[in-house]
Amino acid sequence: MNKQKNNRRIISLNQILVWVAIFAVAVFFFNRSGVQTKELNYSDFKQKVASGEVSDLTVAPTLITGTLKEAEGKESRFKTVRMEDPDLVRELTAKNVGFKAQADSSWVSNILFNVLWIFLLIGLWWFVFIRPQRNDGKSAMNFARSKAKMQDPSKQNITFKDVAGVEEAKEELQDIIKFLKNPKKFHKIGGKLPKGVLLYGAPGTGKTLLAKAVAGEAGVAFFSASASEFVEMFVGVGAARVRDLFDQAKKNSPAIIFIDELDAVGRRRFAGIGGGHDEREQTLNQLLIELDGFESKQGIILMASTNRPDVLDPALIRPGRFDRHVSVPAPDLKGREEILKVHAKKVKLAPEVDLKTIAKGTPGFVGADLANVINEAAILAARSDKEAVDNADMDEAVERVIAGPQKKSRIISEKEKKIIAAHEVGHTVVARLTHHSDPVHKVTIIPRGQALGYTLQLPLEDKFLTSKSEILDRICILLAGRVSEEVVFGEITSGASDDLNKATAYARKMIMELGMSDKIGPIALPGGEEGEVFLGRDLSRHRQYSEDLARRIDAEISDTLQNAYARAKEIITSHRAQFDTLIERLLEKEVVEAAEIDEILGLAPAKKEEAEKVESQPDQPAQQAELF
Ligand code: ADP
Ligand code: ZN
Repeated sequence: MNKQKNNRRIISLNQILVWVAIFAVAVFFFNRSGVQTKELNYSDFKQKVASGEVSDLTVAPTLITGTLKEAEGKESRFKTVRMEDPDLVRELTAKNVGFKAQADSSWVSNILFNVLWIFLLIGLWWFVFIRPQRNDGKSAMNFARSKAKMQDPSKQNITFKDVAGVEEAKEELQDIIKFLKNPKKFHKIGGKLPKGVLLYGAPGTGKTLLAKAVAGEAGVAFFSASASEFVEMFVGVGAARVRDLFDQAKKNSPAIIFIDELDAVGRRRFAGIGGGHDEREQTLNQLLIELDGFESKQGIILMASTNRPDVLDPALIRPGRFDRHVSVPAPDLKGREEILKVHAKKVKLAPEVDLKTIAKGTPGFVGADLANVINEAAILAARSDKEAVDNADMDEAVERVIAGPQKKSRIISEKEKKIIAAHEVGHTVVARLTHHSDPVHKVTIIPRGQALGYTLQLPLEDKFLTSKSEILDRICILLAGRVSEEVVFGEITSGASDDLNKATAYARKMIMELGMSDKIGPIALPGGEEGEVFLGRDLSRHRQYSEDLARRIDAEISDTLQNAYARAKEIITSHRAQFDTLIERLLEKEVVEAAEIDEILGLAPAKKEEAEKVESQPDQPAQQAELF
């Protein structure tokens, strides 16, 4: 990890600004000293007085300055060293030259003034280029102080009752609270002390809120900083800020340190062409050092949030670092209602408003969106001088939030929701009714990552061998989403594209790599999906086997997919009633678990002891789990 320090610097906007400032100061400084000030000797000066060519004199104890009239009406400044000359005042008066006395000798202040500018310049230069290189957070100017916001435990009033719809996450955070309440006792009992908790989930699902609530429940100080703040400045500053953040927290322990958007610093290192990002890497290294350096018995818990757990540097999520992963999913129907309730407490609702109905009409909304809905509704009601927020306000508010800039891409219309439900139920029913497939764990139409909905299948045990029947069933399940769109709506959508890719890949692999096709025979051919080289695939295929075989392979892949499609259609149409019931149930509840699926399909429950643990992994499900 001791990466050689190199001197490449990031040129940020800040740096450009500082350069502009230096330039401006320099111009000002040179202009000032460059003002045309003529030095006259005293006899010349006396002459000019006599000829009436001077005016506006300032007479200091050692220096006389003033304006000098030159040819063609031009004027310039002059100065002369003052001499013992008792008659001067009388002569000036006689010539009607305006003059004033100055107590202090102005050249001293002049010099001081100039020196000050020089110091300023040097200071600025040091500040920008020397100090960051020294990578030292303890220097005089507190530039590297973390911008962390501290929240005092006495003023901390957010608790778990302010966070709704994330019961599982709350449950998982309980022992963190217990620990923070009494770190010493926890330590005495022994066992593994918690250290770093990673909250992951889509933006606005309440990760920050949860972290604050943990602090509130435990009554400890809460320090928060956004990881992007660490990287925006000069080299070394981010690292210094991380250090400072930990120092502050240690002084106030027990405490929670919360880092928002951890992926801003925590992305995999050495990724991308031309090496990593220096500043980010230094900051990440510092974060790792701090993580390793503090003992949990000091009563500090580090929490962080991200919506991209998959891009985090593996070093960050190793045991002893952010080893506790808590999923903060988008809320389901019930969760949305709970969240609406929490926020509705802050406004006056007309009795007609039914939050459950609103929850039904807001699929895909996360906590932040729902908070926004209530807020907008309150504003609308106030604008039309209503006593309380009514249904019209709520409907209008929902529409506004849907139209909101970031919401647009995530929102699912009523019609789309039906299609997604039918598609997912297709996967589910076929997965449950084919004999060589893994048990279905649940089906949901709550979006997750790129998927609009998914059916989760979990195997009962680790498998090392896969049979032909299993692969054929898998292809059948994959195609069932498309099949059920066709069966229910008579129209197919783009939603199945990922399924089709996977199904085709399975078929190809089965035929070309595993030699499982009767027509093609036991043969393994180059150019299967894996080990495929960019651009090289078709070339090598043509080189390695005949046109004729290629044509037969293509036909066999196509047949396999067609047969699987027909089989899926047969399963669905022969169970149409149960199939429709399941779609309805899914639309209503958004998640349907295994037991209920079996009940609707009229089956004895399958064994499903495995499961759960997959849910607590970062967004990538364990390899053997299947999501459609
Ligand atoms: P994240 O950190 O996951 O992006 P935040 O915690 O910043 O989301 O949520 C933003 C706001 O949305 C919160 O301050 C709160 O008002 C509201 N909110 C989000 N999730 C919830 C929730 N589960 N329960 C109640 N309010 C929520
Ligand atoms: Zn699908």
